[in-house]
Amino acid sequence: MTDTNYDAIVIGSGPGGTSAATLLQKRGVKTLLLEKGNFLGGKMYSVEKDGYAYDLFPHGQVPMVGSQFETIFAELGVADEFERALEIEDPREVITLAYRRKDWKEYRKVSQTQAMADPTPFFKLFGMEDEAEQAKMLGIMTEMIEMTPENLSKVDDVTMKEWLDERDTPSELYNYMGFQANGSLAEPLDLVCASEMILIMQQIFLQGGGGQYKGGFGLLTNVMVREFEKNGGTLIKNNKVEKILVENSTVTGVVTEKGTFHAPVVVSAAGLQPTILNLVGEENFDKGYVDYIKGLVPGWAFTSVRYFLNKPVMETGMYVMYSDDSWLDVARYEKMKKGEIPEEVILYMVNHNFYDENATPPGEQVLVSGTICTANPDAEEIAALYERMDQQMRDTFPEIWDACVRREYTGPKEIRDLTRDSALPKVGGECVGLAQIVGQCGKHKPKSETPLRGLYISGADAGGEGMGTHQSALSGTRVARMVQLYLKKQAKF
Ligand SMILES: Cc1cc2nc3c(=O)[nH]c(=O)nc-3n(C[C@H](O)[C@H](O)[C@H](O)COP(=O)(O)OP(=O)(O)OC[C@H]3O[C@@H](n4cnc5c(N)ncnc54)[C@H](O)[C@@H]3O)c2cc1C
Repeated sequence: MTDTNYDAIVIGSGPGGTSAATLLQKRGVKTLLLEKGNFLGGKMYSVEKDGYAYDLFPHGQVPMVGSQFETIFAELGVADEFERALEIEDPREVITLAYRRKDWKEYRKVSQTQAMADPTPFFKLFGMEDEAEQAKMLGIMTEMIEMTPENLSKVDDVTMKEWLDERDTPSELYNYMGFQANGSLAEPLDLVCASEMILIMQQIFLQGGGGQYKGGFGLLTNVMVREFEKNGGTLIKNNKVEKILVENSTVTGVVTEKGTFHAPVVVSAAGLQPTILNLVGEENFDKGYVDYIKGLVPGWAFTSVRYFLNKPVMETGMYVMYSDDSWLDVARYEKMKKGEIPEEVILYMVNHNFYDENATPPGEQVLVSGTICTANPDAEEIAALYERMDQQMRDTFPEIWDACVRREYTGPKEIRDLTRDSALPKVGGECVGLAQIVGQCGKHKPKSETPLRGLYISGADAGGEGMGTHQSALSGTRVARMVQLYLKKQAKF
């Protein structure tokens, strides 16, 4: 029979939960990990069925080298199992960028290796021949890449658009950044926090973007959970936490579908809003904190279409397609919400077979194509967006369309259903989580500590920075440290 008393209980097996749980257990804290689903990994889930193996949602680790998972593997003593499926110096052409300037009829394309040290392909892609413009673009990129942490924190209150506007940014770079904000942060340029986005740009250029793993991102979950259990941790799947128990502003445990468990610490990676508003309940906090939590703004989402092909068609690992007109700022997003689906959308395509020869049965190929959308799981425009994505695929890549034998569609509704519960209307399907926009990042990022003693929030919503999975693991690592200190203090007094 499972023990009901622990030092710490962790809710959720996404990267925010598994990182905290495995580090706590490794450091001798008796930990229970609870997951409501019948699979592990949260959004970082890798599908394995009928001879196919691919990542469901995340398709690129930033930073590729030096991610928080690498640090965690090292502490767990399994650094040799950290198997990247792509190295920065990979000689293959990894990514194809297709871009159409407003005044062009056709898209221009460049393919390049993973290392993006040479700006020439960008100048070629942008049709940027003027040397003064090239120098201006390089100057802005260099300023971003060389910004110190101290200077980064000075732009916590500035949107990325404002930062670029202050520098009279060439339109080609401005549009590229608009597309990057959508793709890397699932946010618009005119809301996303400059410090958060510049940090991610630094990591992409200095430590590599688009990292992949042998076995997919699921490798990270599998190893962290295996070590958790090997070190004595208890995992219970298919067990939804229904309530976090509180006495005298101190957590005491959780009520789940499979019984009640007690611990002086509860780490929730089930999302900040669902934790505070649903699992603990507003009545346990003062109104100011509840209003603050309700006011936090979730990021946007992706609609994805997965194409199963009866032969290999795409050669590079990634194919991204954008134009001056297709990336979304707030104004374009508002139009889309009203049902005005743009003529063309950005497409992020990932060829799973490029990174893993076992992604499909021999002779086949599986690709995923994604574009930015609202995080509202019930949004009506999503169906039309899928149609537009398919239309664009049919027109631009007829050879992919012709080889396609099956398609799968996933959007904000599926993201919400598979991972976090919505705590407020029209949210839940977000890619990353809450708080990537100005006023909610850097020094304004929601804290992992809560007003309740013993309750901590781990994952993408609180306490971290950087791109989705890395940020969540960073938050989990920091929470593990906070929990140890809290427990030490409890023992002392
Ligand atoms: C389409 C898409 C593309 C993405 N692309 C990238 C990318 O390329 N790179 C990148 O780094 N990141 C990417 N992300 C973001 C990344 O997946 C998330 O930021 C990250 O998974 C968040 O981790 P988390 O632990 O905070 O939450 P989640 O991954 O959402 O995990 C939460 C877990 O908690 C469980 N849970 C919830 N409520 C309960 C409960 N009451 N009881 C028990 N368990 C519960 C859920 O089932 C889930 O397993 C992408 C996400 C999406 C959706």
